[in-house]
Amino acid sequence: MKPIVLFGSPGSGKGTQAKMLTECLGIPHISTGDMLRDRIRHGEHLEKVEATMHSGALVSDDVVNAMVRERLSLADAARGFVLDGYPRTQPQAEHLCAWLDGRGKREVVIHLAVDYNIIIARLTGRRQCPHCGTLYNVASHPPRVDGLCDLDGEKLVIREDDSEPVIRERLDAYERQTRPVLEYYRTAGRRVIEVDASDHPPEMVFQEIRQAMEADDRSKDRR
Ligand code: AMP
Repeated sequence: MKPIVLFGSPGSGKGTQAKMLTECLGIPHISTGDMLRDRIRHGEHLEKVEATMHSGALVSDDVVNAMVRERLSLADAARGFVLDGYPRTQPQAEHLCAWLDGRGKREVVIHLAVDYNIIIARLTGRRQCPHCGTLYNVASHPPRVDGLCDLDGEKLVIREDDSEPVIRERLDAYERQTRPVLEYYRTAGRRVIEVDASDHPPEMVFQEIRQAMEADDRSKDRR
């Protein structure tokens, strides 16, 4: 079983790398942001969750932990999974560690480190297909036809939480609540792989991740 945690600030490229990893490894991509948006679309969540997301703050640990626990118990996650956007707080990390420890499994955390100014440029230029979820960026990864999804021709949208004040709040939540989770993993002696994802195209970052994971597997075998 390969439990992978993709860790990084909003705009660090977690979604793109998660898609590439899941296609390559044949395991599911579990994005808590996508799951929450999906539930809101289907009217399953309280207005409070929707309002929290639109403000850029974090949804409560209880709501997110319960949702993830349920998702990890589905059959397709038995061979492993790529978590994108979870854990985002120490209580979430403790919850995930306990869940994995209870099954005799260990996660590998991949930290996508990206320069702050690059993050801002990426987030303000981000566009998404409302139908299939594909992400574009007006500067670095534009669609073939301006404003339309390459895959299904749907009109691309700016996510509500990609407006500038909300971006600031999301980055603030990351610094205050999420970045310390890395320290939690390190202090607990768990594996954290650092990948410099600042300047490189997604395919190159993906190669770096694969090489780092292979090196980590080899050193684990020797231990
Ligand atoms: P994302 O698509 O991962 O950027 O998530 C969008 C929003 O969903 C975040 O700004 C939070 O409001 C909420 N969210 C997603 N994942 C989590 C999580 N693990 N814990 C708390 N809130 C989350």
